[in-house]
Amino acid sequence: MSGGVIVQEARCRGCAKCIKSCPTEALRVSEGLVRIIPELCIDCGECVRVCREKAIQLYEDDWQLLRAQKNLVLMADPTFYVQVGAYARPALMKEALQSSGIEDLTEYEAAAYDITAYAIAKLLETESRERLPFISTYCPAVLRLIQINFPELVGRIVPVESPLEIGVLLWKQKTGRDDPVTMAVPCPAKTTLVHAPEGREKSTMSYSISVRRLIRDILAGSPKVTGSLPAQPNRRWLHWSVSGGECRHIQAFSERPLTTISVSGLRNTKDLLTELELGRLSGVDYIECRACDLGCIGGVGTSESRFLSQLRLDSIQFEWTPTDEERLAAASRFESDVWRLEKPFTAKQRIPLAENLKEAMDKLRTMNAIFSELPHIDCGSCGRPSCRALSEDIVRGHGEMTDCIFKLRERIYGLSAEIHSLSGKIPHTFRSQVIHDHEDQRFV
Ligand code: SF4
Ligand code: SF4
Repeated sequence: MSGGVIVQEARCRGCAKCIKSCPTEALRVSEGLVRIIPELCIDCGECVRVCREKAIQLYEDDWQLLRAQKNLVLMADPTFYVQVGAYARPALMKEALQSSGIEDLTEYEAAAYDITAYAIAKLLETESRERLPFISTYCPAVLRLIQINFPELVGRIVPVESPLEIGVLLWKQKTGRDDPVTMAVPCPAKTTLVHAPEGREKSTMSYSISVRRLIRDILAGSPKVTGSLPAQPNRRWLHWSVSGGECRHIQAFSERPLTTISVSGLRNTKDLLTELELGRLSGVDYIECRACDLGCIGGVGTSESRFLSQLRLDSIQFEWTPTDEERLAAASRFESDVWRLEKPFTAKQRIPLAENLKEAMDKLRTMNAIFSELPHIDCGSCGRPSCRALSEDIVRGHGEMTDCIFKLRERIYGLSAEIHSLSGKIPHTFRSQVIHDHEDQRFV
């Protein structure tokens, strides 16, 4: 867990509905309370979606404190701009934000998404075909899923900075300002961009708030929007909030036709990554995966139905072909290296069973032996997502065989049979006495 989701203990009923939703088996329920294994959590937000008690929530910084700041500077995820029908244009939303006393960095986003798409297009042109396809880094949950579950694919992750970070860097360079920036996020994974980024030591942004909370706050103020601000000529970047938008943007800057695959949802993402791992995707240049259904508009931190957000996006006119001026601007920023990562992405080691190899092998054998005794039906009654997870917890010292309801029943049955058998026994000293006193009496 990188800080994207938090548990509200007082709300948890211990119902264990959430444990099977987690794609990395990071959840456990014991003593009526859910627990997240931080090293396994990828901040996808599936558990937030499933829990009806709202016991697992997207982490947000204190909105009241942020609102109390004299000048609140906002970098909003593209999903933010298609949440409300009346303001479903960046210029209209900018005006609504201004009337609420919030300064947003929309104009830098257009340039930042262009430079990201341009940099990826250039890397795809210069990279040897054997090293392709590259995989997008835009969804931090997918990035972490690869680091934890598909470590051999880490070398294929495209080494380009997030456009949201680049946008803030461009703003800082242009204005020389260093005010703290708050990001409006659609999901827990984007929260980690701010609080635990990959590819850099520290984010250019300081705080995060959900798109939903920001939208509610703005609407509560009934902002007056006149449409007086000029419309942005380039709105391609808005399309990164739906599956396929990133690939289309990269294609717009590429000198050659690209073969790309875009998928959304964790199941599709895992299936596609497995196929890539098995070497079945030759001839593909680029893979764009989003953990949420339909893309970021399906994130748990949004306020609008993802289907309506998509309709709104479809109603906006997009200029996919960059102008000469936009091409030149992207090319010159490409030279400035603003898109480069500070440090490479690395695989994340799963927690070893033991530090010492021999001990780890012994524990693995014990784990397999325990697993072979379990019923293999993954019912979840033990508070673990699968029988294998229970066997792993037992060898790690975090559980016991009788946590399994079937093993507990077997044990109770065995004990009751033993008690029954014992109850029929009479100490032989007493028996001889009885025989002596009642010579015709016999014990069976
Ligand atoms: S779904 Fe999970 S987090 Fe929610 S109440 Fe049940 S056990 Fe607790
Ligand atoms: S956020 Fe995703 S990975 Fe983390 S515990 Fe929830 S379901 Fe599992």
